[in-house]
Amino acid sequence: MIGIVIVSHSKQLALGVRELAAQMVQGQVPIAVAAGIEDPENPLGTDPIQVYEAIASVFSDDGVLVLMDLGSALLSAEMAIEFLPEAQQQKVYLCEAPLVEGAIAAVVAAAAGRDIHQVMAEARGALLAKATQLGVISRPLSTITPATTNVESPTREIRLIVSNRLGLHARPAAQFVATAARFQSQILVRNLTRNTELVRGDSINQVTTLGVRQGHELLITATGSDADEAIAALQTLFANNFGEDNVALNSPPAFHHEVTPATHGELSGIAASPGIAIAPVVHYQPTHISITEYHVDDPDAEWQRVQAAINTARQEIQAIFSQASLQIGDAEAAIFDAQLLFLEDPVLLEAAHQRILENHINAEAAWQAVVDEVATSYRTLEDSYLQERVDDVVDVGQRVLRLLAGNAAANLHLESPAILVATDLTPSDTAGLDPTKVLGICTTSGSATSHSAIIARTLGIPAVLGVDAQVLHLADGTLMALDGESGRAWVEPESHILDLLAVKQSAWQTAQQEARATAHQPAITRDGRQVSVFANIGSINDVQVAVASGAEGVGLLRTEFLYLDRTSAPTEEEQLAVYQAIAQVLDNRPLIIRTLDVGGDKPLPYIRVGFPEANPFLGWRGIRFCLDHLDLFKTQLRAILRASVGHQIKIMLPMIATVTEVRAAKAILSEVQAELNQAGISFDAAMKVGIMVEVPSAVAIADQLATEVDFFSIGTNDLSQYVMASDRTNPRVANLVDALHPAVLRMVQQTIQAAHTAGISVGLCGELAADTLATPILLGLGLDELSVNPQGIPGVKQAIARLSIVESEAIAASALQQDSAVHVRELISTSITPPA
Ligand code: PEP
Ligand code: MG
Repeated sequence: MIGIVIVSHSKQLALGVRELAAQMVQGQVPIAVAAGIEDPENPLGTDPIQVYEAIASVFSDDGVLVLMDLGSALLSAEMAIEFLPEAQQQKVYLCEAPLVEGAIAAVVAAAAGRDIHQVMAEARGALLAKATQLGVISRPLSTITPATTNVESPTREIRLIVSNRLGLHARPAAQFVATAARFQSQILVRNLTRNTELVRGDSINQVTTLGVRQGHELLITATGSDADEAIAALQTLFANNFGEDNVALNSPPAFHHEVTPATHGELSGIAASPGIAIAPVVHYQPTHISITEYHVDDPDAEWQRVQAAINTARQEIQAIFSQASLQIGDAEAAIFDAQLLFLEDPVLLEAAHQRILENHINAEAAWQAVVDEVATSYRTLEDSYLQERVDDVVDVGQRVLRLLAGNAAANLHLESPAILVATDLTPSDTAGLDPTKVLGICTTSGSATSHSAIIARTLGIPAVLGVDAQVLHLADGTLMALDGESGRAWVEPESHILDLLAVKQSAWQTAQQEARATAHQPAITRDGRQVSVFANIGSINDVQVAVASGAEGVGLLRTEFLYLDRTSAPTEEEQLAVYQAIAQVLDNRPLIIRTLDVGGDKPLPYIRVGFPEANPFLGWRGIRFCLDHLDLFKTQLRAILRASVGHQIKIMLPMIATVTEVRAAKAILSEVQAELNQAGISFDAAMKVGIMVEVPSAVAIADQLATEVDFFSIGTNDLSQYVMASDRTNPRVANLVDALHPAVLRMVQQTIQAAHTAGISVGLCGELAADTLATPILLGLGLDELSVNPQGIPGVKQAIARLSIVESEAIAASALQQDSAVHVRELISTSITPPA
C-alpha cells in the first residue's frame, strides 16, 4: 500500500490533517507525520531525521508520497530522501499539492488502489473541486492561469533564445516539458518575441502553442525550492540545441507541388515519400466515433473512466513506439513521445476533470470538448509547421475517445499488396503499416512535413499526398500507379505510362538489391586485408536492422536506452531479457555491451544528483557515475554476465581516464562473478573486458591501459570534443569538433600503436567510422574493426573493398602531417583512386 507522509512546521496541524485524511479511508492507508521540533520554547519547525523516520515507517515498494507545508519543510524532506538507501529514494515522491486537500485526495486514491503516479496526480488536482465551486476556474483551457506558488519560494528568471531550425517543434517541446516536469518548482514560460501570455512549462499543449520559432526569445521563470537547478537544466537544454544539429533534421525531400497539366487519369499532389508503386487501390476509412453528451450522476466515476482510458491509450502508444522503433528507428519513433506527453498534460487533464465535475457530463463529451479546444488553438497558430502538429493531437485524442466509447481499432491489415487511399492517415496508422502489403499511400490531405509523411519516408513507402478528392470515389481494386518522387498518381494508367514507371521502379529496386547483396559479404581490401564491420546499436530493434544490413557483430551497444525515460532503474531480469534477445538475433556474432554511460548531460530522473554541473561533459558521467552507484553498476554487470552464457558477449567500460578506474571496475566485476559462482549461476568466465578510449588521458597512458584489458574501442565523438576542448553539442564550436583534425588522428594512431604493441585488438566506434571519406585513413592507421550505425554498413564495406592497404597507409601518413581538417579532406579527395 502507498504510504503518505505529512510534513509540517506545526505538530497540531499535521495531526489534524492526518485525522481528517484517515477518516476518509477508515485508516486503510498508512499516514505518518513529521512535524514540529523538540524545543518546548519554540516548537514550530521541521526536522529531516523525523521526516526520514516517518518515510521509513510507511515505506513499501508501492511508494511514498510526501506532502509538505512550506519553506524549510521542503528542505527537510529533500534532505530526508538523501538519507534513504538508493533503491528506496526512487520510490519516494515529494509532492507540491496543497497539504489538506492534497492529503485527502491522495489517501482516497491510494485506498482505491491507484499507483503512485495516479495518487500524485490526484493530490495535485485537489484544489480543482474547490476552485470550480468558487467559480475561480471557468475560463477556456487556453487561458487557464498557472497555479499560485508558495510565496516563500525563490523565483528565478532567465531569457533564452531558441536556435533550433524548426523552433520548439514536437521533440524539443517534449524535451522542454519533460525537463520542466522533473522539478518541484513551477516553471512558467512566455514567448517574448510573440508577446504571448505566461503558460505552464509542464504542459505540452501550452508550450507548443507558444508558437516558438528559431530566433524567438523566451522568458522562463521557476518558482520553488529547486528553482536554480530547474533553470540550469533548461539552460543546458537550450545550449545543447535540444540535441539537434540543425543540419541533420528530418527535412522533407524536395517539395514538388507543381501542378502539371493532367493527362487522362493523372493526379498531381505533394511528393511526400519517394519510390514507385503500381497496385490496386484499397480505401481506408477510420472508424467514426459519434459522441452524444449526457448528464451523469456520478462525475467521479466518469473521471475514473477517463483515467482508465488514458492508461490504456498510454500502453497502446508505448506498444506502437516499440514497434515503430523496430521499423523506423528510435529517432523517428520519438514522435510518439510527444503523444505520451499529451496524455500527461496537467492542463488538459485538469480541464477535462473540471468539465466533468462542473457540468456533470459524460467522459466522452468532456474529453472531446477539451481535445477540440486544444486542436483549435493549434490550428490558429501562424506557423504552418506547428499547425501540422494538430494531427498528433487529434490522433491521440481519438485514441482515448475510441477506448472510452469501447470501439475496436480500425483494421489496416491488407490481405494482398495495395495502394492505400484515404482522406488522411494518422501517425499511428502510418507507423502500423506493413511495407510489404502497403506499396503506396495516396491521400487527399497532409503535407510533406506531417509526421505521417516522415514515417512513410522512413518505412520506404512511396506517398503522394494532397491529391484531388476524386480518388475517394474510386472502386476498391482499381489499378493505380504513383511516383512519390514527382508527386504524381495515375488511375488506370495507360500502357506507355506503366512501361515508363516499370523501368524507373526496376532501376530503383536493382540499386537497393545491389547494396543489400554486397553488404552481406566480408569487407576485404583490394590487397586482401579483412576488416570487421560492426554496428552501433541503441536498442533491441536496431540489432535486427543491423543484421539485415550486413553487420558482422555489434561493436557498441549503448545501454543507456534501458535506463532513460523511466521512473526507476531497469531490474536485472529486465536487462537480462534484453541482452539475451539482442545476442539471439546476432546468432553467435560478437556483441560488445557498453556499461551505462549516463550522468552529465544525460541525468537519470530517478537518481538525485543534488546539484547542477557547470560542465556536465567534464562531470559525473560514465564509469565515474557507475563507480559511485554500485547497486546500479552491479545489477548491470550481473545481467551482462548472466546473458554471456552461450553467446559471444564482451563488456566495455566508457569514459575511462585512469588505470585506477579500470582496476576498480574489474574488481567489482570479480566480486559479481564470485557472487554468481557462489549462487551457482552460470556465466562466461572468459568474457573479454575492454574500454572505450575517448578521454585524452587514456590515449596518453594507452600502453598502461592495454596491459589491463582485452581490447580498445576508440570513441572519436568524445575524443574529438575533449582533444579540441569544444563541447560536442555546442553549435558555436561545432567546426572545432572535427574527428578528421590531425590532432585527433594522431591520438587515434597513438592508441592503435599502443594496442598492437600490447597484442590487443582495437576498433573505432565514433561517427568517424561511418564517414567513408575517412575509411582510407582508418585502414591505413591499422584499425581491426569499424563499428557504425546500421544504415552506414553497406557504404563502409563498399569503401573498404575499393581500397588497398598500401595506398591507405600512404594517405594516413600524409594526413597526420596536415595542419587542418580541411587539408586532410582535400588530401583524401585528391588521393583516392576512383572505382573501376
Ligand atoms: C564516442 O564517444 O565516440 C562514442 C561512440 O560514444 P558516445 O557517442 O555514446 O558517447
Ligand atoms: Mg563517448
